[in-house]
Amino acid sequence: MNTIFIAPPAAGKGTQAKFLSEEFNIPHISTGDLLREEVNLGTELGDKIKNNLDKGEFVTDDIITELLTSRLTKPDCDYGCILDGYPRNITQAKLLEDIFDKLDKELDNVLFLDIDLDLALKRMQGRIVCPKCGTSYNINNESLKPKKDGICDKCATELEKRNDDNEETFKNRFNVYLDKTSELLDYYDKLGLLKKIEINNSDSAADTYLKIKKVINSD
Ligand code: AMP
Repeated sequence: MNTIFIAPPAAGKGTQAKFLSEEFNIPHISTGDLLREEVNLGTELGDKIKNNLDKGEFVTDDIITELLTSRLTKPDCDYGCILDGYPRNITQAKLLEDIFDKLDKELDNVLFLDIDLDLALKRMQGRIVCPKCGTSYNINNESLKPKKDGICDKCATELEKRNDDNEETFKNRFNVYLDKTSELLDYYDKLGLLKKIEINNSDSAADTYLKIKKVINSD
């Protein structure tokens, strides 16, 4: 099952992708994580990427195509994967079709998490991540708080705010999302692959996951 998430920042796509990954036993591949891993390696490419990430700008298609193709070739993707953060525009959607063709894969679902700016902003303000294992938490959402304040449940590392989680960068990223990805919704709708999930203020992560399961199973 190859699935894509389309969602603005802080819609909870990382959390939902992890739930799906665990239930279906397929990898969750976040282009944001792939890029941050490259930055952490301290390579020349990583330095170039860091500059884009700090400003909330898009990283070039060439760089992402290369990192993603290499990731999708790994055997853990043989039975599917969950793509989080890619594609974000039609050019990338077409590049992904080329990558999938080349690797003999097919796209099955496109899940759209629909959230408004105010709610996304509130969620961003509460978001903290583990710098070691990448697990994400949210102090503004009871179901996503760490068990012990500021400490990762999985590896006991001290949690941090992401560099690009400040209000100005966040609004820029949200607007880039609106500009560039809205066309994707039409594109995948016409292909009959789009499934929309509305996120409300009162929804816990588990509520959202139930909605996702419902649309996936409605096929
Ligand atoms: P995310 O973790 O998905 O919020 O992504 C963090 C940052 O990585 C974004 O603000 C972009 O700078 C970069 N990025 C992630 N995915 C893409 C993509 N598909 N195309 C371009 N840049 C991306």
